[in-house]
Amino acid sequence: MAGSFKAFVVNKVSDHFVSGILDMTRDSLPEREVVIRVDYSSINYKDGLAITGKAPILKTFPIVPGVDYAGTIQMSASPDLHPGDRVIVNGFEVGERHWGGFAQYAGAKADWVVPLPERFSTWQAMAIGTAGYTAMLCVMTLEDQKVRPDDGDVLVTGASGGVGGVAVALLAKLGYTVIASTGRPETQDYLKELGAAGFIGRDELTGNGRPLNTARWAGAVDVVGGVTLANVLSMIKYGGAVAATGLAGGGDLPATVYPFILRNVALAGVDSVLCPKPRRVEAWRRLAKDLPEAAIEAVASTIPLGDVPKAAEDIMANRVKGRLVVDVNA
Ligand code: NDP
Repeated sequence: MAGSFKAFVVNKVSDHFVSGILDMTRDSLPEREVVIRVDYSSINYKDGLAITGKAPILKTFPIVPGVDYAGTIQMSASPDLHPGDRVIVNGFEVGERHWGGFAQYAGAKADWVVPLPERFSTWQAMAIGTAGYTAMLCVMTLEDQKVRPDDGDVLVTGASGGVGGVAVALLAKLGYTVIASTGRPETQDYLKELGAAGFIGRDELTGNGRPLNTARWAGAVDVVGGVTLANVLSMIKYGGAVAATGLAGGGDLPATVYPFILRNVALAGVDSVLCPKPRRVEAWRRLAKDLPEAAIEAVASTIPLGDVPKAAEDIMANRVKGRLVVDVNA
């Protein structure tokens, strides 16, 4: 591997974050079973929270953040992983407690490493990234709950964001009629391109709703939480389900039990970080099977490593549409 390489590092000095790109050497990498030459990382909502310090995501300092990355194995002490293998790493507190993706090299535990499906380039893997893989977990969760395309419309909240956009594309490809909820009407053409069949304004879901509203959705993927999730639950049809994965609008849940006890509604949580490896691998297999090529291109744009701090501010301010791929070598 190269004698020195670039890494975006965050340190904490007297309660303030100091960050920048530093030159690192092989010795700086943590002792891990696998060394990966990173091609791309990406900006997820959690990276925004971490780098801006808006939530205590970073658990140790100094740290290389970046909750996901894709690249090629350089060295491996694991019999199952070999130099030259193209891989993805995300979750398991990578970029939170452990060295993350905003560097040209990373060290990983073998258990964290998922083989990159043949179909995807490393850029495409990070165009999907943690957000897209979480969207797939949400779709799989709705399938587990037996929400079928002919049961009626399904709702995706926070549709212009990373999880939302990939969820719209996946559900549309699988034959669901997808209604996208967004606070940014200017993204409607983009969401139609991904497969949205209709729209509902974000503010229609943020008022003080009743415990039960007109039943409109057979299922929903919710990334917003808070009063939005409460309103979504109140609009789910009898026997439907919500896959809840985010808190972009708040971590509380001011809901009642009525949707559960009168409409048999299921609220299913979706976590990507500690998701067991077989389901993780299955989610990437399904992404390779079900996510259209055009959606991957439409959803993502690329930024250089030096733009990470600005991108972190932008995602917190709801200025990012879709996904931002980080080219760590640019
Ligand atoms: P993005 O910022 O890309 O998307 C979030 C979207 O939510 C925005 O685009 C916006 O959509 C909407 N939104 C933002 N702020 C508000 C608000 N105050 N009220 C209502 N809607 C709002 O983030 P991601 O898609 O990457 O992540 C979405 C959520 O999912 C985050 O909370 C993240 O932490 C969570 N997540 C959880 C995971 C898990 O393992 N549980 C894994 C991955 C993500 P629009 O402009 O269209 O209205």
